[in-house]
Amino acid sequence: MSERKVAMITGGTRGIGKAIAKIFSDNGYDLIINYVSDKTDLTKLENDLKNNNEILFVRANVGELNSVEEAVKKAIEKFGKIDVLVNNAGITRDNLIMRMKEEEFDEVINTNLKGTFNVTKSVVPYMMKKREGRIVNISSVVGVSGNAGQCNYAASKAGIIGFTKSIAKELASRNILANAVAPGFIDTDMTECLNDKVKESINNQIPLKRMGTPEEIAKAVYFLASSDNTYITGQVLNIDGGMLI
Ligand code: NAP
Repeated sequence: MSERKVAMITGGTRGIGKAIAKIFSDNGYDLIINYVSDKTDLTKLENDLKNNNEILFVRANVGELNSVEEAVKKAIEKFGKIDVLVNNAGITRDNLIMRMKEEEFDEVINTNLKGTFNVTKSVVPYMMKKREGRIVNISSVVGVSGNAGQCNYAASKAGIIGFTKSIAKELASRNILANAVAPGFIDTDMTECLNDKVKESINNQIPLKRMGTPEEIAKAVYFLASSDNTYITGQVLNIDGGMLI
């Protein structure tokens, strides 16, 4: 069994997930980094992230329970435990409800919400055995406020909040703490497609007048998942430059 703490981050190859992987790595954790596509050069990523720790990359679509179980099995074979799970993998398929196809709705729910269920269900037995664990689920401010053009995404992210509160109640007796982080608009590939006019209009709605960085999300995720957090569970932390005030 690894002597270091072990953190599993889904969608840890890019954007917010990569920043989360970096902060855990810099704090001495071994990493299990999940991803699904060929978009990232894993050798380069490993060089960017690695300190004196071990990194295991596991390719699996979080929406497929069998693939997730296989990935978690590999991780347990290597490290013997998972101390921290960050359910970060997520996608958007935006459209107004009048135009949204059934597949666009299903794909987003399957990846974002069912994916969070699949990975949590696969990891929790190992945390239960250790009688300790931390789970942080990445929701979104739009899961709290709703957003025109994102009924699929907002529903998936609102679902993650209900899911998080429920498992926080179920798992508290085993000292497994579960929280959600709800980012506002963060500068990643996911928001790159927005044109300058839309970005300007979004910035105008944010009291801090700018988008957030992946590192600003990672710092809060790290705190909630660290042993410094002993009494916060079932909460949703909005990190949005004041957008939802
Ligand atoms: P991103 O840059 O598009 O990165 C998405 C990550 O998720 C990638 O690592 C991708 O892996 C992975 N992924 C996508 N589908 C997957 C699947 N089916 N199975 C496994 N991995 C999968 O996204 P981001 O902006 O960093 O967003 C990260 C999380 O924060 C998401 O849950 C998102 O909804 C949430 N969020 C983002 C914002 C924002 O403004 N950016 C705001 C609120 C919430 P590959 O590299 O293999 O494709």
